[in-house]
Order: sequence, then structure tokens, then C-alpha cells
Amino acid sequence: MRLTLLKNKCKFNRFLINRRFLSEERAKSSNQQNERFSSTREPFDVVINGGGIVGLSFLAALRKSPFMNDKRVLLLEQASRPSIAANATLLENRERSLGNRVSSLTAASKQFFEAIDVWSQIKPFAKEIKAMHVWAHDFYNGISFYPSSPSVSDMFYSNAVKHESNVCYIVENKHVLNALSKTASSDCIRYESSSTEITENNEYIDIVVNGKDLLSTSLLVACDGFNSFVRQNCDVNYFDLDLQQSAIVGTIEVVNELENDENDVAYQRFIPETNSVFAILPLTRNYASFVLSIPSNTGERLMSLTDEEFVDTLNDALFSRLKVTNSSFIQSAVTNIDKVLNTFLPPSLRRSRAPRSNPPHISSLQPNSHAMFPLRFGTTLPYLVTSPKGGKNNKVVIIGDASHRIHPLAGQGLNLGLGDAQLLADCLLKDINALNKTL
Ligand SMILES: Cc1cc2nc3c(=O)[nH]c(=O)nc-3n(C[C@H](O)[C@H](O)[C@H](O)COP(=O)(O)OP(=O)(O)OC[C@H]3O[C@@H](n4cnc5c(N)ncnc54)[C@H](O)[C@@H]3O)c2cc1C
Repeated sequence: MRLTLLKNKCKFNRFLINRRFLSEERAKSSNQQNERFSSTREPFDVVINGGGIVGLSFLAALRKSPFMNDKRVLLLEQASRPSIAANATLLENRERSLGNRVSSLTAASKQFFEAIDVWSQIKPFAKEIKAMHVWAHDFYNGISFYPSSPSVSDMFYSNAVKHESNVCYIVENKHVLNALSKTASSDCIRYESSSTEITENNEYIDIVVNGKDLLSTSLLVACDGFNSFVRQNCDVNYFDLDLQQSAIVGTIEVVNELENDENDVAYQRFIPETNSVFAILPLTRNYASFVLSIPSNTGERLMSLTDEEFVDTLNDALFSRLKVTNSSFIQSAVTNIDKVLNTFLPPSLRRSRAPRSNPPHISSLQPNSHAMFPLRFGTTLPYLVTSPKGGKNNKVVIIGDASHRIHPLAGQGLNLGLGDAQLLADCLLKDINALNKTL
């Protein structure tokens, strides 16, 4: 919805203009530019500030379109160039090097990655999740999520998102970044480049990079994360709230009670007594990532525990006061009830597989894998389209965490950012196409 507002507010066909016109216009102003810059002002059509997953995905979406062939697009990333590894190397001994930052990707995000030709690189590392079970006290009274049947998907999504046979895909962020960096052409990205000043210059945005280089662009897209430099230097309201919660993330080895269990069910428990939420996100048959959200004032104590004590705490978070059963009689009764229901219910309401086994037992913590992050909520108000402070040309668009930061319990922050990137690229490309036809 926010991007619908965005589309209404800015006219993209005014952003991207004929290259010759661009160079001539800017040549005029470059003569007057300040001598403090090491080079003349470089003109671009689109500059993306920030090369996280959202920024790189937006770049890939633009580069995929033939309409962008004659446009100058640049991504600035403050970090150094990552070492890009081949998938075969990454898959070797994978379980010993699992990353602790992971994301659950929705069908829409997976299909966006397919559309920009990176999914085949991500797929070998993406764990297909067949069900998700969420509960508080009574495990059997929780809510189970399954992939909706094709007819239900059609009802809700029409043709926008195709039906998938998985609830979601869990993948380490490093593999998504690796895949995106591999597909991006290196002449579009400048690493170790931080935007340090942004100002409006007539029809353009001027950007100072590392305090010494001057760029100018028709459109600046901020993908520079929750501390966004661009947002802080634009005329946009930002609502920020300390959630007084922290998230501890890490990698754990798990033992499922059923033999040959594929470890393809995600679990999440809400623990009102400690104001905590504990989620287990499977990565491989034997390993999973976890996110434990806790009140901030308990974080330091938990992080100072030994690995063994920490594992006990996690198992406690999963099983304490938990009404689960080891009775095979009850488990098979529940399975039989499901079978009977599935015989009579219409296909759209059938359940494909119930997570009737208890949650897995956590056997160990991968050494040095856990880390803690403070959690805040933040959102730009009301638009994603803005101008540098004092300006009025609305040639800055803010997307991803730079625009909205949410609690990780629903696993939606990145999915929202990818939705922004996809929709913004679609709007832009449609308008350029329309403009090309009228020229
Ligand atoms: C514990 C936890 C678990 C999560 N789990 C999930 C999940 O399961 N599913 C999900 O969808 N989301 C999840 N999220 C949210 C998700 O991680 C974020 O929404 C996502 O990473 C945001 O991506 P981004 O590209 O917008 O920002 P970032 O990843 O923050 O990238 C911003 C980039 O901009 C660069 N940058 C910053 N300033 C500048 C500058 N001045 N100049 C140039 N470059 C700059 C940075 O170096 C960085 O590379 C989780 C978050 C947390 C904390």
C-alpha cells in the first residue's frame, strides 16, 4: 500500500531522462562546482545507496530490463567487496560453517528471486519448510501453518504469486548476498563508498561520496538499512520506538524424535511468563537457526552463560511447562483423526502434514555462533518518496529497513523490503517503457 502511495506521488518518467540532455545539463553546473571535490561531477540516472539484500535485489531487477541498457545505474556500498565463492565450495562442509543471520523467505520473495535470475544460486542452500507450528502453553492447542492449496492461493493472490508447496524457505543471508553479488556486474557497484552528503541541485540530487567525490543523479534510492544516512538527511518524518527487547540468534544442532525426520517443520513458542518468543528455523537435517527474543534487561545474563548452560536455557524455553505427550497412542489417534478429516473435507481445507511430533531437542550450540541485537520499531511517515532537507523535487525513494524496521518474530522484515524493491523496479520500468514509446 505504501508503494501505491509512492507511485501516485512521484512521476517516474521525470526521473529518467535522455542521456544527452542529462550530460549537457550537468556539464553546465559542473563548471561552477566547488573545488573541494577530487573529480568532476559524475552523472547517473539512478544511484542506489546501500548494498544489502534489498539494494542488490533492486539493482538486479533494474539491470534485468533491456530498457535500462542505456541508463547509468550505480550502487554505493560502504563495506568492502565481499569474496564471492562458488556454490560447490560453500556446500563443502556446510554444516560446519552455517551463518547465524538467516531469513525465512515467502513465496513472493522466492518468485522475485526467480524473476531476477538469482534463485538457482540460492536454492541449494534454501531449506524447504513444510509446516510451521506456533503455540504458547499447550503444544496441541497451537496454530499450524501449511502451504495453502492451489485453489486457496488463487483466491487470495490471483496471478501475482504462484502456489508453492512449501510454507517458506529458510536461507542464510550470506548465501543470498553471495548470489546477488555474483550476478551484479562489478562496474555498477562501488564498494568502500559511503554517501556523506546529499543535497538537491535543481532537477538532480548531488551526492558526496567519502567526503571527496561528487555524483549527481536523477533518482536516489535509499537501501542503507535502519540507520539510513539518506533518510536522516531528508525531509521525512520517522517514527522510532525502542521495543526494549533484544534478539539472540545462533546455530543449534537438533535431534528430532522421529527417525528419518527431514527437520522441515519450523517451531515458534510464545512464553508470556518471561515475555519471550523462541523460534527454531531449520537449515539442514541436523541443524537449525534460532531467534530468541527477550526483554533487553535479561540479554547480558543469557549471553554470559556457558554454551551448555545456554543450551539448557533454550531447551527450557521450548519444553518448560509444555504440555506435550510421549504417548504413541495419542499421537497415532491424532494422525488417524487427520486422515478421517482429510477424507471428508474439500481439498482446499485439507491438511497436508501435521507436525504431530514434539519439537526437536537441542543437543548443542555451534561454538561462537550466537550474537545479540537490540530490537526497535521504525517507520517513515507517511511517504517513501522525499527530498533532501530543504529541497522539494521528491527524487529520493526510501525502501527496505531504511524505511521500515519491525520485530523479527514474524520473519517479514526482509520480505517487505524485497516487495518494495520489486514494486519500485516495476513502476520505474513501466514508466520508462511508456516514455520510450512516446519519444
Ligand atoms: C534477529 C533478526 C532476524 C530476522 N529474521 C528475518 C526473517 O526471517 N525474514 C525476514 O524477511 N526478515 C528478517 N529480519 C529482518 C531483515 O534482516 C532485514 O529486514 C533486512 O536485512 C534488511 O535489509 P536491507 O537491505 O534493507 O538493509 P541492510 O541489510 O541493513 O543493508 C543496508 C546496507 O547499506 C549499507 N550502508 C549503510 N549506510 C551506508 C552509507 N551511508 N553509504 C553506503 N552504504 C551504506 C550497509 O553497509 C548495508 O550493506 C530479521 C532481523 C533480525 C534482527
